Amino acid sequence: MATSTLAETEVPAKAGTKYVYSFGGGKADGDGKMKDVLGGKGAGLAEMTNAGLPVPPGFTIQTEACREYMRSNGVSKAVDQQMDAALNQLEDLQGQQLGQGENPLLVSVRSGAKFSMPGMMDTILNLGLNDQSVEALAKRSNNPRFAYDSYRRLIQMFGSVVLEIPKSAFEEVFDQKKHQKKAKLDTDLDAKALKEVIEEYKKLVKKHTKKDFPQDPHDQLVMSRDAVFRSWGNDRAKHYRRINNIDDMLGTAVNVQAMVYGNLGDTSGTGVGFTRNPALGDNEFYGEFLMNAQGEDVVAGIRTPVPILELKKIMPDVFNQLREITTRLEKHYRDMQDFEFTIQDGKLYMLQTRNGKRTGRAAVRVAIHMVEEGLITKEEAIFRVEPNQLYDFLVPRLDEKKAKVEVLATGLPASPGAAVGQIVFTADEAVQKAGHGAIKHPVILVRAETTPEDIHGMEVAAGILTSRGGMTSHAAVVTRGMGKCCVAGAGDIHVDEKKREMTAKGQVFKAGDWISLDGTTGRVIKGKLNTLEASPDDPELQKLMGWSEPFRTMKVRANADIPRDAIQARAFGAEGIGLCRTEHMFFGEDKLPHMRAMILAGNEKDRRAALKKLLPLQRKDFIGVFKAMDGFPVTIRTLDPPLHEFLPRREDLMVEIAVLEATKPKSPKLKGLRILLRRVEELHEFNPMLGHRGCRLGITYPEITEMQARAIFEAAVEVSKNGVKVLPEVMIPLTATLKEMANQAAIVRRVAEEVFKEKGKKIDYMVGTMIELPRAALVADEIAKEAEFFSFGTNDLTQTTFGFSRDDINKVLPTYLGEGILKQDPFAVLDQEGVGQLVKMATERGRKTRPNLKVGICGEHGGEPQSVEFCYKTGLNYVSCSPFRVLTARLAAAQAAAADKLKVEGGRTK
Ligand code: ADP
Ligand code: MG
Ligand code: MG
Repeated sequence: MATSTLAETEVPAKAGTKYVYSFGGGKADGDGKMKDVLGGKGAGLAEMTNAGLPVPPGFTIQTEACREYMRSNGVSKAVDQQMDAALNQLEDLQGQQLGQGENPLLVSVRSGAKFSMPGMMDTILNLGLNDQSVEALAKRSNNPRFAYDSYRRLIQMFGSVVLEIPKSAFEEVFDQKKHQKKAKLDTDLDAKALKEVIEEYKKLVKKHTKKDFPQDPHDQLVMSRDAVFRSWGNDRAKHYRRINNIDDMLGTAVNVQAMVYGNLGDTSGTGVGFTRNPALGDNEFYGEFLMNAQGEDVVAGIRTPVPILELKKIMPDVFNQLREITTRLEKHYRDMQDFEFTIQDGKLYMLQTRNGKRTGRAAVRVAIHMVEEGLITKEEAIFRVEPNQLYDFLVPRLDEKKAKVEVLATGLPASPGAAVGQIVFTADEAVQKAGHGAIKHPVILVRAETTPEDIHGMEVAAGILTSRGGMTSHAAVVTRGMGKCCVAGAGDIHVDEKKREMTAKGQVFKAGDWISLDGTTGRVIKGKLNTLEASPDDPELQKLMGWSEPFRTMKVRANADIPRDAIQARAFGAEGIGLCRTEHMFFGEDKLPHMRAMILAGNEKDRRAALKKLLPLQRKDFIGVFKAMDGFPVTIRTLDPPLHEFLPRREDLMVEIAVLEATKPKSPKLKGLRILLRRVEELHEFNPMLGHRGCRLGITYPEITEMQARAIFEAAVEVSKNGVKVLPEVMIPLTATLKEMANQAAIVRRVAEEVFKEKGKKIDYMVGTMIELPRAALVADEIAKEAEFFSFGTNDLTQTTFGFSRDDINKVLPTYLGEGILKQDPFAVLDQEGVGQLVKMATERGRKTRPNLKVGICGEHGGEPQSVEFCYKTGLNYVSCSPFRVLTARLAAAQAAAADKLKVEGGRTK
């Protein structure tokens, strides 16, 4: 029986390591807490075994063996030895031998990492069958059909998963046989037909691998185990880990478990379920099953599964037992469970349990119900919701209560929300239908993949559906930026752009047909459903926030440039504005000409004249923002971007001039255009991101800062005279030295005094700076002499610390993530190791000079839960993020503080 692994040289074992954990006969070596070692599935099986539940016995080969395999391309002898010992133990317990004798033991080989991970190796069932044992099984079960069905399944799964023969090759053979025998369902094929299928499968294996299907059960086991370890490193699995921030070094465990048979006949079956409704959160038993079926049949769509409540009629005792067990599991884990079961000849077996994935709305509802039912405490409930999931309350969703919901396919939930519209296949069609005219028709742009040429269509479409591409595909990234619903990579949909049709579930859809998208779950639904509006005031959401808010110690502000966004942010609970970018105000049609005049001015006098025209316009904007934030602080940043961003592009100007010169050489416009071009060329910079921008603008053109300070204080005095409580914080961008800070602060303070004197009213205000250059972090103690607050501009700070340009990083990021050089996009999740050190250092150094220095963050990271937690731990006073992430940031900040106070670890359900 001794078959060694693939490794050529011997792999060293870690001395004394327990590689294999058995479970069965009412007790297990491991338990539910050992997810790191046993993986989620293995830990669940151990825990259920210990609880005395009916679980088929087996053993788990722990994750260290996988890490060994990754390092050395093989496992150590110790793994082989311990596995063989565990197998012997299992054989003894069962009174059977793997693939041998009159009553052969068959097992399943199942992968199972710490976090559930679709994309890794598929499970292999019925391992141990070969030409002899299949006959024994036929005889013993008195059911040859069942035996041959199990064997053909093994060859099919082993062939595709371990031997890497395309699944389609097996499917072809199988379908042909069904056709030949005029069988409608898989179950219509009889024993003889299945025997023929087996012969053809074996030929297929020989053809593809030049070897026979392995007949030795132990060989089958070793090969399957190693295939599981290899699958940890396949592209699908890597991709999944990347988008879900799962560590590449965790590795997977392998579970080997005695088979139970759901395909033994009409008193057998298999199913999956949830203890509650995972879409809505209602407390109802939820799931599906199939009689006379095995493994994945339920989810594979081969036959239509039956709602789980039907089981009550077919097998009331089994149903009651299942209900009782899963209720116990829910109580035990204190969370909603997602479970798998098999019924063999009227006897129930549990095969898996885990905390169930759910939508944000369901997460909130389940948490609240569980508190009301006395199952968990309010403190625990706070951690039952992932902060990011709260986004579900801020986007529209499909109204499924009364509608007929026919799911055509499920793709990736690339951008949340709902969209209902008529299909179009090109961006131009989308614009034609949705973009013009009095009546706008909602459209869904359906493409195999989108490209930058589709942008105009994506802008007008209600939603986007693609059949290819992942969570970081063009469609996914762009729609998330637009806040528009998108389902990406729906592989079961075929898009024929030439024929302008889409096929799904054997049905053909043409342009103009209605479909509905659920970007939160990735479902593509036939027909026209109604949508329900976003509901940030949902009473259940408010209740949960009401429980979490008392824990929160860190403030949450919003980044908002205009009054409309400020009002929105207040509605979501923002406690001030952490970043109001004044440049956005200059892009308005009324302001741009004055802005350009200011930039084009050749001397200070002309510049001042242009700025004077901008002053009242800017003052008006500030008044609006101050009013919206009555009683809360507003951080206003002085002008930051390089000036050429306000001018037309050089190339466009050159073309315009060339055309005029050729057609109307006497045009009076020409002179102005040439001056503009010259100025554009003067302002041209090789690295505008590191160029004439930030405080460098205000230092070279002090009159700009003067005008902005004047607009801010005049607005502040005016609203305050009308009873608005105003707390302006003037923020100087991109400082690197104390003198830069002092220079700009002096201007702001001088203008403030001037305005207060003129208007006869004083306002409390602060002058501070953005920390977004490494040098500023290094000399933060110096800068704090002049700055009354710090706000970390972590977008630029990440750019300048890594030397990555945020706009260009996508050229290298996919490779970096793929190679594991970076674990996460540092512009999405704060790089705590590097950039985080600067944040920490600057906070400490700044407070050394000014103990009550107010410190916040206003980069994109301010709304990202992990980064929010970091900010809490670093002692920041507030985080500031886009209005739509305020809720998320509030919950993340509350969780961080609650975890600290209650001394619970993370506590979040994964
Ligand atoms: P996944 O991780 O994709 O859920 P599983 O390892 O849970 O994969 O297994 C896939 C299917 O095979 C499930 O339906 C499971 O219930 C079934 N299965 C796994 N092991 C056994 C077994 N020992 N006996 C019967 N069915 C099994
Ligand atoms: Mg499973
Ligand atoms: Mg910046």
